[in-house]
Amino acid sequence: MKRIGILTSGGDAPGMNAAIRAVARKAMYEGLEVYGINYGFAGLVAGDIFRMDEATVADKIQRGGTFLYSARYPEFAKEEGQLKGIEQLNKFGIEALVVIGGDGSYHGALRLTEHGYNAIGLPGTIDNDVPYTDFTIGFDTAVNTVLEAVDRIRDTATSHERTFIIEVMGRGAGDIALWSGVAGGAEEIIIPEHDFDIKQVAEQIQSGRDRGKKHTLIVLAEGVMHAQDFEKELDKYGDFHARSTVLGHVQRGGAPTARDRVMASQMGAFAVELLLEGKGGLAVGIENNRLTYHNMTDLFDSKHHAELSLFNLNHDLSN
Ligand code: ATP
Repeated sequence: MKRIGILTSGGDAPGMNAAIRAVARKAMYEGLEVYGINYGFAGLVAGDIFRMDEATVADKIQRGGTFLYSARYPEFAKEEGQLKGIEQLNKFGIEALVVIGGDGSYHGALRLTEHGYNAIGLPGTIDNDVPYTDFTIGFDTAVNTVLEAVDRIRDTATSHERTFIIEVMGRGAGDIALWSGVAGGAEEIIIPEHDFDIKQVAEQIQSGRDRGKKHTLIVLAEGVMHAQDFEKELDKYGDFHARSTVLGHVQRGGAPTARDRVMASQMGAFAVELLLEGKGGLAVGIENNRLTYHNMTDLFDSKHHAELSLFNLNHDLSN
């Protein structure tokens, strides 16, 4: 193998740049030529491909987002798009492709492998919703960003004895809510993986107030419902001086934490090692603190499971 390509796809995540850098630097160290592909699968099909050198990835490790840009490109679900992508890869003589993204992007990578092309996936998404990895690149940074906001909201919540509903990202996975909720000492964490009863939430808030609590923080994953709708529902059970805050896209941006940079560096270099060993069609992960890999096909037979012990822990610690 002489040439490899790299692309980032789906939602951007802090640490993607560190992963690109690791793949590129490790591959160059091993004597490979490296090609960057802009705008994910859209850029692949369009042939937006360029040769990278050591300097291309200089001064990138600390930056949020992805300097290769990302794109949503549903056309890649069709065979026509996939074959065009492979045609471009062949045109540039790129023998293997590293795809950094979430589970949608992994589907794209898997389609390439089904056509006999070697692709390998790195989990890059703030949602932490990829199976066979305990953590995805970008999750730790997103949790820390949310945590900073939760801490700030706590100050104002306490001063005015308010209840705050803080809506965080996570359509199908409650990990961001779980981790930031536990770390921020939230009274309630509402996630898609666990039922909730708004009447019970209201009773908990009331009981906290009766015991002299000055504030209530509720961290709500967006996949459950929107914060304003939650607030309206809650209002039906009493006046808790409720306010809602939607954190939105601030959760995606910012410099990656040390943990995300280190993990991205480890995973990126590991992907290159696997490719050099002639392995392919794989998804890289980190499980129990060790780098692991699985066949990409296995990922779609499995599901990411949120750490529900954190949910129970929070219940015991915050009430
Ligand atoms: P995140 O969850 O962080 O948004 P993601 O990788 O899951 O990241 P998606 O928008 O689901 O984001 O997917 C990214 C891209 O992967 C799509 O725009 C498309 O180009 C490609 N893709 C998604 N699903 C498929 C599929 N079934 N077949 C081929 N390509 C796909």
